[in-house]
Amino acid sequence: MALDGLFFIFPSPMKILDGKALSEELIDSAKDEATKWKPKLAVILVGENPASLVYIKNKKKACERAGIEYEERRFPDTITQDQLISEIEKINTDDGISGLIVQLPLPEHIQVPLVIRAIDPKKDVDGFHAYNLGKIFLSPDFEDLPPATPSGIIRLLDHYDIPIRGQEAVVVGHSNHVGKPVSIMLLNRNATVTTCHIHTKDLKSHTKRADILIVAVGKAGLITADMVKKGAVVVDVGINRTEDGKLCGDVDFENVSKKASFISPVPGGVGPMTVAALILNTVHAAKRQNLKP
Ligand code: NAP
Repeated sequence: MALDGLFFIFPSPMKILDGKALSEELIDSAKDEATKWKPKLAVILVGENPASLVYIKNKKKACERAGIEYEERRFPDTITQDQLISEIEKINTDDGISGLIVQLPLPEHIQVPLVIRAIDPKKDVDGFHAYNLGKIFLSPDFEDLPPATPSGIIRLLDHYDIPIRGQEAVVVGHSNHVGKPVSIMLLNRNATVTTCHIHTKDLKSHTKRADILIVAVGKAGLITADMVKKGAVVVDVGINRTEDGKLCGDVDFENVSKKASFISPVPGGVGPMTVAALILNTVHAAKRQNLKP
């Protein structure tokens, strides 16, 4: 009898991928290295996007917990692209700052790729620069500053001893910061990877095959229980707000959790893991800069 059939007769209890607890553990584990390498993180915020204000507050709290110096540089949303790039260049050449994040989104008149390209790759702790993204194509050994959300997802799977090698992994969403890099990181760990997106024909035919299903779209209720294989590991990256203002992911948690073997909640799953990965990148960036002759 196929394993899927056994699961039907003896369903094992679903387990939560607790990103919040693991994130705290990882941030605490970074303290010793932070004391040794003295990282300093600078965050550039343009405008006052309410979600961005929450995200940077969480990043600041995580830095405080890890003992990382933190500095915010805020600019009005009237800042020009050239002015913003010149602010980035000041930080690039400031030896006292080892990590830099430009909080996204940026106002429409600013071209995000040009801004990211301006960040010194060795200070790019979000892992968004083409240099750092390019390195993850080679192998896990080259993931020096991997993009924070994909890195957080892989750490979450590893922590729960979820096998990746040989598994069918399906990623829904192909953004440069989440879907594409997590697909590559799974491929480098020898999963068989399918990446789906808005133009994918018959999404369900793909998601149904997934041993590991990663959903990063930003559309509440996109993944329903009939789209998920019994016993699948489901990682929900999406962040959406319900009409009553509550946070939810892209996965119908209530019903999918009855079929999944593991599932990440929203909030409390990938979000905190992204912050933890960012902290680990910040410490790693400082270490590499200190070791440079
Ligand atoms: P994004 O850049 O908007 O990308 C969304 C992706 O989903 C695109 O590849 C898009 O395809 C695809 N898509 C849209 N509708 C689809 C559909 N109906 N079926 C299949 N694919 C579809 O967003 P992102 O930055 O990757 O983020 C995705 C979600 O994750 C958002 O909710 C975001 O807030 C959340 N997020 C969470 C964290 C965290 O730490 N938890 C971090 C980053 C992002 P096209 O480009 O072809 O339209």
